[in-house]
Amino acid sequence: TNASAPRRVAVLGATGSIGASALDVIARHPQRLRATVLAAGRQVDALLALCRLHQPEHAVIADEEGFQALQDGLRDAGLATQAHAGAQALDALVASEACDTVVAAIVGAAGLSSTLAAARAGKRILLANKESLVLAGELVIGAAEAAGAEIVPVDSEHNAIFQCLRSRQTQGDVRRVILTASGGPFRGRDRASLAAVTVAQAVAHPKWSMGPKISVDSATLMNKGLELIEAHHLFALPRQQLDVVVHPQSLVHSLVEFIDGSTLAQLGLPDMRTALAVGLGWPQRLESGVAGLDLMTQGRLDFEAPDTEAFPCLRLAWDALEAGGTAPAVLNAANEVAVSAFLQGRIGFLSIPALVEEALAAVSYAAADTLEALLSADAQARRITQARIDRYALARPA
Ligand code: NAD
Ligand code: MG
Repeated sequence: TNASAPRRVAVLGATGSIGASALDVIARHPQRLRATVLAAGRQVDALLALCRLHQPEHAVIADEEGFQALQDGLRDAGLATQAHAGAQALDALVASEACDTVVAAIVGAAGLSSTLAAARAGKRILLANKESLVLAGELVIGAAEAAGAEIVPVDSEHNAIFQCLRSRQTQGDVRRVILTASGGPFRGRDRASLAAVTVAQAVAHPKWSMGPKISVDSATLMNKGLELIEAHHLFALPRQQLDVVVHPQSLVHSLVEFIDGSTLAQLGLPDMRTALAVGLGWPQRLESGVAGLDLMTQGRLDFEAPDTEAFPCLRLAWDALEAGGTAPAVLNAANEVAVSAFLQGRIGFLSIPALVEEALAAVSYAAADTLEALLSADAQARRITQARIDRYALARPA
């Protein structure tokens, strides 16, 4: 490929929080970066607005019912952008010449298929969709290695670790990787006081502005649990070499400790555009719109141990990683269903860990060597969790 030709970027989950950050960075570098494919779940109007702004070659709406409105809207706007609908169309575009780089920022297990398609097609993948690694990490990493796809993690912690690991020679040089966690909006509270928290309180993250699902995951600490499993797959590290420390300022994004006693950390303001710029430019650095870190203004960096009594999701994720096989897929699926019910006001905050724990106990683990086994565990966990939620709802007057 021509070294001076712009990188052709597909932004999956374009209408979301990560999508907006990615498009912001891309628009700062018109000579080097082009958004050629934009994809969203169901928000046709938001996708059309992005198409008018970025003029991609292709726009994809996952929800097939949105196709006509998308096609009409593109035509009415006088755009040459081609309309597509459905997951299969998305996977085909991701694998095609339409892009060389894929920002995988669909939320949830719904992102697995397109992430796998990008891996199999040997694309550079800016991976935000951590759920695809929790569900099928071995398959995604295996497919990427086989096809020479380069995965640059853009989850801020893993992006930090990715940057710190560039100074290492061999895998054996690493003693441990320490993921930082903000602690979420309920840091410092005890379990009993969490029973009555509202959706609005749970999604009001103190440091990061994010989509609703990951915001709830941050409040339960499931996000850090998913990130442990994500780190295990991305960096081929066993559970014993992974640690979590709570760091409320969210300025140290993670740390890597080496066998010689050196610890490297990556610091920056909590703004996802930094991690996205790393992924879009690597190995070069790109201006991202994020200001530098003024430690004098920030004043201090605090660290404390996570409270797995009040926030059992972190412990459940450790256990699922330990159990291996399909357990992480069950954890992830039950969590997605429970978080969605919490966001709809159908269950309380403490029911999220309770439902995940019940699903882990109810679904028998199998080896995780095929996509079928993983998807079947995912489906079974969703069914069990949904059935329990429906029973709760019946038991409680509306
Ligand atoms: P969001 O809810 O803001 O956006 C989700 C996007 O996915 C939307 O564009 C939506 O249309 C799209 N989508 C949903 N279902 C889809 C489907 N079936 N097919 C195609 N598209 C679909 O979420 P977000 O906060 O941007 O998070 C996206 C992913 O990035 C998640 O996996 C999250 O864990 C991860 N992540 C986010 C942040 C952050 O700061 N927001 C940080 C780290 C990791
Ligand atoms: Mg993160």
